[in-house]
Amino acid sequence: MRSSWSDADLEFRREVRAFLAAELTPDLREATRRMTSVYAPPAIALEWQRRLQARGWLVPNWPIEHGGCGWSQVQSYIFTHECAAADAPPLSPMGLGMCGPVLLGHGTPEQKAHYLPRMLSGEDFWCQGYSETESGSDLASLRMKAVRHGDEFVCDGHKIWTTHGHAANMIFCLVRTAQLARPQQGITFLLIDMTTPGVTVQPIVSISGEHIQNLITFDAVRVPVANVVGAIDGGWTVAKYLMEFERGGSLYAPGIQVRLRRLSAHLADMEDAADLRRLAAAIAVDIEVMDALELQFMMQLSAGGAPGSMASVLKVLGTELSQRLTEVELVAAGLHAAAWQPHMACPGGPTPGFQAPADGKGCGTLYAAKAAAKYFNDRAGSIYAGTNEIQRNIVWSTMGRR
Ligand SMILES: Cc1cc2nc3c(=O)[nH]c(=O)nc-3n(C[C@H](O)[C@H](O)[C@H](O)COP(=O)(O)OP(=O)(O)OC[C@H]3O[C@@H](n4cnc5c(N)ncnc54)[C@H](O)[C@@H]3O)c2cc1C
Repeated sequence: MRSSWSDADLEFRREVRAFLAAELTPDLREATRRMTSVYAPPAIALEWQRRLQARGWLVPNWPIEHGGCGWSQVQSYIFTHECAAADAPPLSPMGLGMCGPVLLGHGTPEQKAHYLPRMLSGEDFWCQGYSETESGSDLASLRMKAVRHGDEFVCDGHKIWTTHGHAANMIFCLVRTAQLARPQQGITFLLIDMTTPGVTVQPIVSISGEHIQNLITFDAVRVPVANVVGAIDGGWTVAKYLMEFERGGSLYAPGIQVRLRRLSAHLADMEDAADLRRLAAAIAVDIEVMDALELQFMMQLSAGGAPGSMASVLKVLGTELSQRLTEVELVAAGLHAAAWQPHMACPGGPTPGFQAPADGKGCGTLYAAKAAAKYFNDRAGSIYAGTNEIQRNIVWSTMGRR
């Protein structure tokens, strides 16, 4: 933490620490320490969301009239670091961090009045329907179809890799409403109630054994035209607006710093760990740089600057630093990491096919028990939210304009 905070910032930090001491229950902290994924499983996240909402600290960056805190960027930075240090569950961002800002920026007054309070209360849990089997990096090639019949669209097609799709009751989708000259034209941003007949959710189990992602099919699903956000056929503008929040919306350094501290404590007790300590020290140096860049980025935003390609720079640095850390964590965990024991961890979702031992016991330390699942889960960091190759393309394409 910086030594140059003002007295008001230090007072704010005391207030945050007092809140965390009072509201972050031992169960929530323990679940967070055992997490293998990037977002807490929905049940844990919703419990923490309820407590943040009761304090008025759930959506600091939203406008005050919709539940925001009016905090400075420094206060947001302090809050994020304190939450990570105290093992507060990271909330999944699809509703509060993506769809919410989109509705605030592009939604109708009716959409804001209906969806925002339900999002804050947790009554609606959202997932993101952008990717399709043939449309990931080349998102504009998407084919899920929505044909207008009076006051409704009839939707047919699929979405894939949908994080928390099995827990969500609402999905925001990009759908094709017209074939026009450019693929970016004729796309519409649509809010779909997942309980509508014709929506089917199938699990995708990842290499870490967790069910977090899903394949969602839409078979003649009827959606009111009133659920369009922005202009019909003009959804690409809304989609791009959302992606700025997806890539620039969270800080990587705080969570990585906490994991590095745990790794260091583990390495301190190990014999013959000089090589691992050297690798950990190199990561420590890079985290300091990452942390400084993130603070600088937040200051740039608070001065009215746009995220621009810096969001891509931070996404690449953050995810690759995290992956490097998982490699050291895995080696440090040793042989015990080879045992698959999800009951010792807090997986990001159910682990189909796994039968926990009747006595609930595992082998090795908690540290080792989650290392392999965390390692495998983290491989996805350089793929989701736009692959790191695509982020590098963005950085390269803006170099000449800096
Ligand atoms: C864990 C996880 C969670 C996800 N959650 C969601 C979600 O909730 N909702 C959602 O909509 N999507 C989600 N995704 C999907 C994600 O956004 C896509 O996987 C991603 O955009 C890449 O698309 P793709 O998988 O089709 O790969 P492709 O686009 O087919 O890419 C394959 C490879 O080619 C490279 N490549 C492609 N084009 C270029 C290029 N122009 N230049 C250089 N290299 C290129 C890519 O970098 C990659 O290495 C998730 C993915 C993962 C892994």
